[in-house]
Amino acid sequence: MAIEAVVFDMDGVLIDAKEWHYEALNRALGYFGYTISRADHLTTYDGLPTRRKLEMLSEERGLPRGLHGFLSELKQQYTVDQVYLKCRPMFVHEYTLSNLKARGYKLGLGSNSIRSTVELMMRKSNLIGYLDTMVSNEDVKRPKPHPDIYLKAAEQLGVAPERCLVVEDNQNGIRAAEAAGCHLLVVNSVLDVQLDRVLQAIRLAEGASA
Ligand SMILES: [Mg+2]
Repeated sequence: MAIEAVVFDMDGVLIDAKEWHYEALNRALGYFGYTISRADHLTTYDGLPTRRKLEMLSEERGLPRGLHGFLSELKQQYTVDQVYLKCRPMFVHEYTLSNLKARGYKLGLGSNSIRSTVELMMRKSNLIGYLDTMVSNEDVKRPKPHPDIYLKAAEQLGVAPERCLVVEDNQNGIRAAEAAGCHLLVVNSVLDVQLDRVLQAIRLAEGASA
């Protein structure tokens, strides 16, 4: 079955923002004596929306729920600061996305981040013009690891999920893509997102389902 669309996760795939989110959340939590360790962030929290991370901290470590709204706003402001300081276009990504587009693939983004962060990061990295749709955690009821974000992206692209290749970097996103019935390319870092790797994954997916 032919692949017609490629849907990218954002953090850890198109934007190297793990560290930014980690630092921003810890800076906000620090006012109240809480921190998330690097190990916990990488194994458990990475790729989850801030509101889910705060919920987990309340369940597991007694963070008062009344602080969630304030902490979310503070964390968001720190994330925006980091984006303005550090987010830059990467030639390899512009090359990859523009080439896929020229080859006729529809391109989408599916992220557990909020809409304003998605739009800001895609603008600052010069990728927004290549994307036919962007789905944030505000566009669905259930974030990843539920399939909703990828199902919505496929729907907006007008492509069946099984004709989409999803590019993901972590467990929550992989589970979401699999549950949606999409094909998968798993990458370890933003540097792995290269045209030849994506084309190879497309050929593999087409062969696997032929
Ligand atoms: Mg990710």
